[in-house]
Amino acid sequence: MPGTESVKHAPQHVAVIGAGMVGLATAWFLQERGVQVTVLDRSGVAAGASWGNAGWLTPGITTPLPEPAVLRYGLRAVLSPSSPVYVPPRADARLLRFLTGFARHSTAARWQTAMRAYIPMNRRAFEGFDALTDGGVTSQTNEAKSFIAAYRTEAERSVLLDELRHIHAAGQEIEYDVLTGAEAREVEPSLSDQVGAAIRLYGQRFINPGQYVHALADAVHARGASLVTGADVVDVHDEGTGVRVVTAAGPADRYDAVVLATGTWLGALARRFGVRTVVQAGRGYSFSIAIDHVPAGPVYFPAQRVACTPLGDRLRVAGMMEFRSAEAPLDRWRISAIAEAARPLLRGADLDARIDEWVGSRPCTPDGLPLIGHTRSPRVFAAGGHGMWGITLGPITGKLLAEQITTGHQPAELRPFGPLR
Ligand SMILES: Cc1cc2nc3c(=O)[nH]c(=O)nc-3n(C[C@H](O)[C@H](O)[C@H](O)COP(=O)(O)OP(=O)(O)OC[C@H]3O[C@@H](n4cnc5c(N)ncnc54)[C@H](O)[C@@H]3O)c2cc1C
Repeated sequence: MPGTESVKHAPQHVAVIGAGMVGLATAWFLQERGVQVTVLDRSGVAAGASWGNAGWLTPGITTPLPEPAVLRYGLRAVLSPSSPVYVPPRADARLLRFLTGFARHSTAARWQTAMRAYIPMNRRAFEGFDALTDGGVTSQTNEAKSFIAAYRTEAERSVLLDELRHIHAAGQEIEYDVLTGAEAREVEPSLSDQVGAAIRLYGQRFINPGQYVHALADAVHARGASLVTGADVVDVHDEGTGVRVVTAAGPADRYDAVVLATGTWLGALARRFGVRTVVQAGRGYSFSIAIDHVPAGPVYFPAQRVACTPLGDRLRVAGMMEFRSAEAPLDRWRISAIAEAARPLLRGADLDARIDEWVGSRPCTPDGLPLIGHTRSPRVFAAGGHGMWGITLGPITGKLLAEQITTGHQPAELRPFGPLR
């Protein structure tokens, strides 16, 4: 029966397709278990969502995206052209399937079920990063000395306070303080006088994601992996005793197993192995700016859906959720919409001299859960669909999936994420 056949021997040579956070973390943890790895990417290291994202390592607020408030917000947002959520007026069949599935999962009961699936992964998220640090990955994680969610009014703040209560009720710990605007400015002087209410979160971290993923690629390479860029994988064949990986350039190499870690493009190769869940691009934008006082940790404007992260002496500003093709060009109007949303709330920020303007695609699933594990083929594994949280959960995903691939046993944490669901 498909999917129940198991591979008797641990694979010796595995191809990982996709050199983003998820693929490279999986490659690294496979190496920990003595597996020879080849990483293939059609563009390069961190060419997808893993470069310009906000770099938050925030297991305390890592929650499923579909939830009742997002649905209410989303419907309102579709009607407003300046909204941070965009859905094209005419959706194609695939997008409609995603949106109807997403709406179906946006209930309190489904959110709780999905949250219970996330909690065991979230608890171990830092363990993944710490293993990478201990194993010699040179880019460090930074403790968020301050992490402020800032609002104009107390009324706006109630949405996240409610969510934090739901997170606690589901069994996940996250410590926080409720602050006035003045208290928030004392902690974070880059907030403007328009900030009238805030929440300070504790115990989270952040990274410079592009730099981190490149350091991870260097470590994987230094440990003996081949890293092949410009390798556009167009087909994968399970040949019974191994897997053949075909690239657009022609050469097809054989491996004992393959991990599909192609982010928002996961469906293209995974569908033929029984993965029916739609992975939809939730496109986000970012840029970086100079600011008089670089914050000591992330600054979040939830009402504007804008996330800021200190990157060295600059601030990365990120936002937007566009449900449209990953291949659509960068829309400059969206970049200015993010700048205008952040402008009144930041002090001493030069929002007009932006560099590194970027668009990338969160790999979103309708049920808000990633796809991690074997497909219909016992030699072809999926690792992706982490939506808003592929950086936070990339390393622990890699660690647990490498365990499954080499032992044949599915770790309990991965059970809810089976790609054939
Ligand atoms: C604006 C924004 C902010 C975000 N902020 C955060 C955050 O603060 N914290 C967090 O945890 N997450 C965040 N995310 C989400 C996070 O960026 C993603 O979940 C994560 O990067 C996904 O990693 P990945 O490795 O699965 O995919 P990707 O990084 O997209 O990598 C996929 C790779 O596969 C390659 N590929 C695709 N198809 C093929 C093929 N056929 N052959 C060969 N190669 C192929 C691509 O070139 C690409 O390099 C954010 C996302 C955005 C857009």
